[in-house]
Amino acid sequence: MDTAASLPDYSAFCASAERLLRDGEDRPFALAAIDIDFFKLFNEIHGREAGDRIISDTAGLLQTFAATAGGVAGYFGSDDFALFLPWEDTDKDAFYTSLSSSALFEYRDGFFPSVGIYPVTDRTESADVMYERARIALNSIRGSFTEHVAVYDAEKHERLRKELRLLLDARRGLKNGEFLFHLQPKCDMNNGKIIGAEALVRWQSADSGMISPGAFIPVLERHNYITTLDCYVWDAVCRWQRSLLDEGFDPLPVSVNVSRKDFLEMDIAEHFLALTEKYNLPHELIELEITESAFVDSSLDLKGAIRRLREEGFHILMDDFGTGYSSLHSLRDLSFDILKTDIRFLDKGGQSRRGIDIMESVLNMARLLGVPMIVEGVETADQVEDLLSIGCSYAQGYYFHKPVPVDVYMQMVQNPYNVDRGGMTVQREEQIRLSEFLDANMYSDETLNSILGAVAFVEDDGEHLRLVRSNERFDRLIHTLLSTDDPAYSFVHDLSTYAEEMKRLLRIAEMNLVDGCSEMLVMKNSEGDTVRVHIRVFMLNERDGRKLFYMSAEKIEPKWSDEDLWRELQETQARLSFLRAALNRLPNPIFLKDAEARFLFFNDQYAKAFGMRRADYIGKTVLDLEYLPKDDRERFQKEDEELIRKESELSYESEFLFSDDTSHLALYWSTGVHDKKTDRRGLIGEIVDISRHKKT
Ligand code: C2E
Ligand code: MG
Ligand code: MG
Repeated sequence: MDTAASLPDYSAFCASAERLLRDGEDRPFALAAIDIDFFKLFNEIHGREAGDRIISDTAGLLQTFAATAGGVAGYFGSDDFALFLPWEDTDKDAFYTSLSSSALFEYRDGFFPSVGIYPVTDRTESADVMYERARIALNSIRGSFTEHVAVYDAEKHERLRKELRLLLDARRGLKNGEFLFHLQPKCDMNNGKIIGAEALVRWQSADSGMISPGAFIPVLERHNYITTLDCYVWDAVCRWQRSLLDEGFDPLPVSVNVSRKDFLEMDIAEHFLALTEKYNLPHELIELEITESAFVDSSLDLKGAIRRLREEGFHILMDDFGTGYSSLHSLRDLSFDILKTDIRFLDKGGQSRRGIDIMESVLNMARLLGVPMIVEGVETADQVEDLLSIGCSYAQGYYFHKPVPVDVYMQMVQNPYNVDRGGMTVQREEQIRLSEFLDANMYSDETLNSILGAVAFVEDDGEHLRLVRSNERFDRLIHTLLSTDDPAYSFVHDLSTYAEEMKRLLRIAEMNLVDGCSEMLVMKNSEGDTVRVHIRVFMLNERDGRKLFYMSAEKIEPKWSDEDLWRELQETQARLSFLRAALNRLPNPIFLKDAEARFLFFNDQYAKAFGMRRADYIGKTVLDLEYLPKDDRERFQKEDEELIRKESELSYESEFLFSDDTSHLALYWSTGVHDKKTDRRGLIGEIVDISRHKKT
C-alpha cells in the first residue's frame, strides 16, 4: 500500500494531467482508468494482505510505466488507478500487453487489470471529464472475463446519454400515471368473434405525446427497468379484470407480455399468484406471453416457473414463434398452452404462397405439439382466406381490430354477438387433409394413413443433416429403414446411404422456395424390401448458417410407376380442389359423410347456416351436434346409418333453425352412396330453403 499512497491522489493527478496537456503543446494524450478485475474476490480468496500487496505492486508498476512514457500515474483508493500519458496512434491491445506483461501478473492466478482509455480529443476539457469518460469505457467491460481493455466510444456514449434521458423520463412517467395499456382483440377467423385480447403497453408522455413500445421497451430491457414497468402493467390489467367482475361482467381472458429479464429479476410464478390473490382473480383470466427467444434461452431456467403457473391454471403463450428457432428441438421439452406466430416474420418479401406453406408447416408443428395456434399481424382478407384454408382458426391483427383503448374494447365485447367464449381448440392431426379422404380410390388404406401427415423437420448445418422433430407416422415410415432407436441419431447415421439423396432434395427445395421439392425415392426398409417414398420438402428458414426444412413423406404402392403416380396425384389434387370450390359456390348447404356417418365435408353455406366450424365437426357424427336436442340426435344418427347401409334416400320438409336465430322452412334431402369399385360407402345431403317459394 505504501507505494500506492505515495502516488498522486485524484486532485493532484488531475492537476498534473492538465499541466502535462498544457506543456505538451500539440502532443496527443490519453487518460486511462485502471482497476483490477474481481479485486474483491481476490481479497476473499487470498486474504487482505495479499490484496494490499497487489495494490502496492501495481502502483509501483504504473509509476515506472508512467515515468518511462513521460506521463503520470494516480491512485484513488481501493483498486482505482489512472494513467495520463502521451498517446500517438497507439494500439490499445499493444498498450495493454506492455502494461500487463510484467512478472507481477503471473502469480496472480488469473486476476488481471482492466483498462478504459479516453484519447483526449478536446484539450480544453477538464481532467474530471476525461477521467469520467475513461471510466465509461472501463465500465463497458466490467465483469467480462475475456475483455480487459476498451477505448471510449463517443457515439456509444451519446446513445447511452439518450437512453438515460429516456429512462429518467420513463421513471417520472410511471409515477405520473402516463403508462396505460390498450387491448387488441384475438379473433376466431371462422366467424370474426372475439375470444380474448392482448394487453399492450402505451406511453402517453406529457412531453412527447404517444410513444410506441418499440421506442422504449428495448431501452428499458437493456437497463433492467422493464420489470418495474411490467409489474405496473400486470397490476393494472388485473385490477381492471377485477373491476369487470365487480360490475357483474363475465370477462374474457387477457394476455400480458412477460420480458425475459423479468425471469431474472423475480419469481414470476410467485408474483402472479400473489397478484391474482390480491385481486381475487380466477387464474384463467390472465395469460402470459413469453417470447420464443426467452423460452429457448438456456441461461434462463423457465421450466420450473412455467410448470407451476400452468399447474395453477394460467395459460402460457409462446410469443413470436419462428423468430428464434435456434433450438427448435428443445421445444419438445418445453411446455406451453398456445403457440403464437407472426405472419409478418414468416411472409417476408410478399411471397405469399410460400408464406402460407410455412404457416401450414408451423401449424402442423403446433398440432404435433398438441397446442392451438394463433397468428398475429393478419392484415388482409387474402391472408384470412389462406389461413382458414390450411385450417388455422385464430388471429390477432389489424384486419380484425387494431389495439384499442379499454373503453372501446368494452363497447365491442359488451355485445354478446361479438364474443365467443369457447376459447381455442387444437385441430386434430387426422383432420389435416380432408381432400385425400374424398377421393378414396386413389390410395390403399395403408397409403392413406401415411398421407395423413408423416412429417418431420430437418436441419442442415452445412455438414450434417439432423432430424429436429418428427411425428409418429414419419417415424413409422422412415424408422423402419433404421436400426437404432433414437431417430435423431439414426437419421444421420443409418440414412447415410440416403444422405446424398436427401441433400439433393434439400438443395432443390432451397432453390424452389415457392413450390419446394417433390420427389419419389426408392429406399429399402428393415426387411430389405424396396419401398417407394414420396417426399415433399420446403425450406422454412435459415439462421446462423443452419437451414431448417419441413419434410413430408408418404409410402407409395408399388403397382404405380413414378410418373403415372405423380401425374395422377397432381390431377387428383386439382380435381379435389376444384370440386371443393364448386361445392362452396352452390347456394344450398351440402354435406358428405363417411360409412360411420362422420362428417367428411360440408360446404361454406352449411357452415354458415348452422354456425358450425369445420375444425369442430369434421370427423364427428350427428351425435356431436350440440344444437340439436339429444333425442333428435339419436334419431338422426340412426337414420344416417340406415341410409348408408341401404343406399336409400330420404327427404322431408321441416322448420330449420339457423345460427342467426331465424327459422326457415326447408327441404332436407340425403341419400346413401356406395362406390362398388372401392367398396366405400357414405352419405350426401342437401338442405334447400323453400320458405320463399311457399310464401308466394
Ligand atoms: P408483441 O407482443 O408481439 O405484440 C404484437 C405487436 O404487433 C403489437 O405492437 C401490435 O400492435 C402489433 N400488431 C398486431 N397486429 C398487427 C397487424 O396486423 N399489423 C401490424 N403492422 N402490427 C400489428 P406494439 O403494441 O407496438 O408492441 C410491440 C411489442 O412491444 C410487443 O410485441 C411486445 O413484445 C412489446 N410489448 C408491448 N407491451 C408490453 C408490455 O407490457 N411488456 C413488455 N415486456 N413488452 C411489451
Ligand atoms: Mg405479445
Ligand atoms: Mg408477437
